[in-house]
Amino acid sequence: MSQANLDTSSAFLDACAAAIGAQHVLTNTHDAAPYLADWRRRYRGAARAVLCPADTSEVAALVRLAHAHRIALVPQGGNTGLAGGATPDASGQQAVLSLRRLNRVRDIDPHNNTITVEAGVILAEVQAHADEAGRLFPLSLASEGSCTIGGNLSTNAGGTGVLRYGNTRELCLGLEVVTPDGEIWDGLRGLRKDNTGYDLRDLYIGAEGTLGVITAAVMKLHPLPAARVTALAALGSAHAALDFLALAQRYAGPLLTGFELMSDFCMQLVGRHFPQLRYPFEQRHAQVVLLELSDNESEAHARTLFERLMEAALEQGVVEDAVVAESLAQSQAFWNLREHIPLAQAQEGLNVKHDIGVPISRIGQFIEETDADIARAVPGARMVTFGHLGDGNLHYNVQAPEGGDPKRFLADNEKTLNRIVYDNVARHRGTISAEHGLGQLKLDEAAHYKSPVELKLMRALKTALDPLNLMNPGKVVR
Ligand SMILES: Cc1cc2nc3c(=O)[nH]c(=O)nc-3n(C[C@H](O)[C@H](O)[C@H](O)COP(=O)(O)OP(=O)(O)OC[C@H]3O[C@@H](n4cnc5c(N)ncnc54)[C@H](O)[C@@H]3O)c2cc1C
Repeated sequence: MSQANLDTSSAFLDACAAAIGAQHVLTNTHDAAPYLADWRRRYRGAARAVLCPADTSEVAALVRLAHAHRIALVPQGGNTGLAGGATPDASGQQAVLSLRRLNRVRDIDPHNNTITVEAGVILAEVQAHADEAGRLFPLSLASEGSCTIGGNLSTNAGGTGVLRYGNTRELCLGLEVVTPDGEIWDGLRGLRKDNTGYDLRDLYIGAEGTLGVITAAVMKLHPLPAARVTALAALGSAHAALDFLALAQRYAGPLLTGFELMSDFCMQLVGRHFPQLRYPFEQRHAQVVLLELSDNESEAHARTLFERLMEAALEQGVVEDAVVAESLAQSQAFWNLREHIPLAQAQEGLNVKHDIGVPISRIGQFIEETDADIARAVPGARMVTFGHLGDGNLHYNVQAPEGGDPKRFLADNEKTLNRIVYDNVARHRGTISAEHGLGQLKLDEAAHYKSPVELKLMRALKTALDPLNLMNPGKVVR
């Protein structure tokens, strides 16, 4: 797909300043810098300017100007994405379109169980507004203090509540979108049923800003649970974790809201770098599962349910040991173990990350086979395997051998490791990106693993909706 000719004059920036106010067109390198690198600092770009509109009509005005001047736009929310999707290229010809000033809650409708928010509202704020109205907005990510609802929709973010509530797509009922030529599509409908042709909403969700700019959304709310109880279970293998998941679903049904798998090496890394976080078992176990129940009745009800589940699991030999949190503080301590894995990994040094998905039933086999393949190809490599087992989503990351040079390890082995992991994913009919999207990070891998038919359909959609290739070019599909 060719990129449109670029206008090198300043007429575009003058027109942008007239449309949204000069103070909201950032051209100074210092002001623009935070918008030009991704969260991991893996990508750094350049841009003509960072544009900060205040509302939908200003977004539409800027998109029309970009269309007229043939300037490519890179939408950006909280800039917490992990695939480089919100970072402009190095040409300095693109403009970043920051949605953060679109930060109003437009409506909350407790009877319809919906909240209508603008794209730049921070996820934690959506949760807080829902809570004030006595409702739950269940999307929850470790980046929730910075990521925006527009970014969540554009990456179809997952997180820890997917098992019970689904990912962002399943939490969205309607969208407002500015199209690549600057028109406004008002699809802000709070409907559970609407079979009137192509589902445009679904097209924009997960499109990573390549088809248009999401400016607002109607999101689903749920009843606030009366209690949340957390437990840790120790198991002998990932296969046992699958049996345990089936058992937990039988005992808890829809009350089961979290089921996170953490390998022993993850626990060791957390222990090494965050010794204040206590490993709660006396012995080491191959895997630890963190479970969460959200109960609509009471804490006592949840606790009884957990105790019955753990009794059955211990009796059947599925679980080797278990501990139920006795207090909110202990619950938080269990979650801290899970949430500190990425941080401990970062402290241990650079590593090769994979955010893969396979059918839940294949997880044990996938881990076993991939561990063996990597041990053969890159002796000493250390696998950091954790994730949302209940969704079939694993962070299968690989760390340099103990004492090795992480930079060297990455340079020498990243390609080999990616090939091994993704070939195994493909064999199990899985996905190379379950949560984080393709962005620029996985563009080539997607081209390698998606079928020619799928790629042709994706290109056809992109060309039909954005014929000038001005919406986040170089991301998702080439
Ligand atoms: C510590 C940490 C933990 C994380 N945990 C998870 C997790 O558990 N699950 C998960 O799924 N992700 C996770 N992420 C990744 C990230 O937080 C999510 O992808 C999040 O949804 C991105 O939101 P954002 O507002 O930061 O988007 P950005 O990073 O700003 O943008 C992401 C993509 O969306 C596009 N975009 C942004 N806003 C718009 C808009 N309004 N219209 C059109 N396109 C837009 C951008 O162009 C880009 O392609 C984590 C990240 C961090 C740093």
